[in-house]
Amino acid sequence: MPSEESYPVFNPATGTQLTTAPLCSQRQLEEAMQTASQAGATWSRNESLRRSALRDFADALEREADLLAAALTAEQGKPLGEARAEIAGGIEILRTQADLSLPVDVLAADGPIISQVGRQPCGVVAAIIPWNFPFSIAMSKLGAALLGGNTVVLKPSPFTPVTTLLAGALSRAALPAGVANFLSGGDELGAAMARHPATRAVTFTGSVSAGKEVAKAAADDLKRVVLELGGNDAAIVLPDAEPATVAADLCAIAFRNCGQICATVKRLYVHASIHDRLVEELARQATSLKVGHGTDDGVQMGPIQNQAQLQRIKALVVEAVADGAVIAAGGRAGDGPGYFYPPTVIAQATDGMRIVTEEQFGPVLPVLRYEDLDDAVRRANNSPFGLTSSVWGTDPRTLRDVAERLDAGVVNINTHDVQIPGAPFSGRRWSGIGAEGGIHGVLALTDARVLNTANRRP
Ligand code: NAD
Repeated sequence: MPSEESYPVFNPATGTQLTTAPLCSQRQLEEAMQTASQAGATWSRNESLRRSALRDFADALEREADLLAAALTAEQGKPLGEARAEIAGGIEILRTQADLSLPVDVLAADGPIISQVGRQPCGVVAAIIPWNFPFSIAMSKLGAALLGGNTVVLKPSPFTPVTTLLAGALSRAALPAGVANFLSGGDELGAAMARHPATRAVTFTGSVSAGKEVAKAAADDLKRVVLELGGNDAAIVLPDAEPATVAADLCAIAFRNCGQICATVKRLYVHASIHDRLVEELARQATSLKVGHGTDDGVQMGPIQNQAQLQRIKALVVEAVADGAVIAAGGRAGDGPGYFYPPTVIAQATDGMRIVTEEQFGPVLPVLRYEDLDDAVRRANNSPFGLTSSVWGTDPRTLRDVAERLDAGVVNINTHDVQIPGAPFSGRRWSGIGAEGGIHGVLALTDARVLNTANRRP
């Protein structure tokens, strides 16, 4: 059913309107929910069909990878190379999931009762997506839910609907009718999906505040929830780290996707003995990054995705400086059109500043000094978030010891922001509930089902 209403979508590199997207009405939501409920009956019973349909979908997306990457850069702002990598990564996720099998365990096979433990789908899954990785997060949720035998109603962020809706159009030839339904609209559409009576599970990626609203909406009806929320990830640099190498790696990671990554370095604790040299190196590397339109050659960092996020980043930096922090690189937005902000390194940051305590979700890296390693670990862990973290240095025993003490869903040694296919991605505390990634994501969107059979021997 075509939409009667639409809303504007902006290109963050120019600040001008890129296109419009349909604004889904309540009637269209009802229709999508009904279609998804009906499509579940056959889909949920045929695991091999699901696997082959996911492969067909991946192939269809791959044939249009250039188109999808161009759309992603236009609406999200990331450099074309990063957009291509996201499209390829999302397709790879689908293929990895299509290779999985739902686990079946047989218990007490020699006893009087043979118990077979399998999985069953939740039913209709509402999938709600943020604007930082619109494609790969959508594919991760779709793949896990569909392989598990669920049907899906999926909503991209209102800021980045284009790539997802293109993927939705491509899904029509590859997936059976009704198993995946793509709707665009604002936050209120997400809220309506989360509380809809047909929804049996919600898989949500986004902010902590919206995640809590989703959890409340789901609680009334005891819907399953998977919440992938914010992070305020700490990295600790040990005194034996080599400043130039570590700075190069940290800059490549912290400013990727313009710093708009849940699982990237957002607070950097550096030992006093190498603090000044590392800040100098970080500033040098950050200043050398080429910022511009994602379609321009050699651009390493694009704009911030939306105007509100740009204003938030500006305000956090101004506030940190007023509280005594020092800008070592960047720190001033350009005058031109588009939502550009330079890669920024903030020295002399302290623990109470909002740029340190809150997830800034932009191209700003605050650096904090420490003298005592135990104290650095305590400060790194002192956060309601617990998504990912890292430790950087040379001595393997110290690196391992610190890693063991960092309290997060993913802990890294001499790297950060890596996701290996198949590994669970899940945060602690406010960073989320449940997991995504490989079989873990499929398990989170299915329930256990036990089949007991009396073992009547002849
Ligand atoms: P957001 O919470 O504003 O929006 C995310 C999605 O939720 C959008 O589609 C939005 O329309 C919808 N939404 C908003 N309010 C809702 C409600 N009450 N009920 C249902 N849906 C609602 O987040 P954002 O600004 O798009 O994304 C940035 C946030 O996402 C950051 O905090 C980031 O850390 C987080 N994130 C987390 C992960 C992860 O895997 N942990 C990955 C990417 C982004």
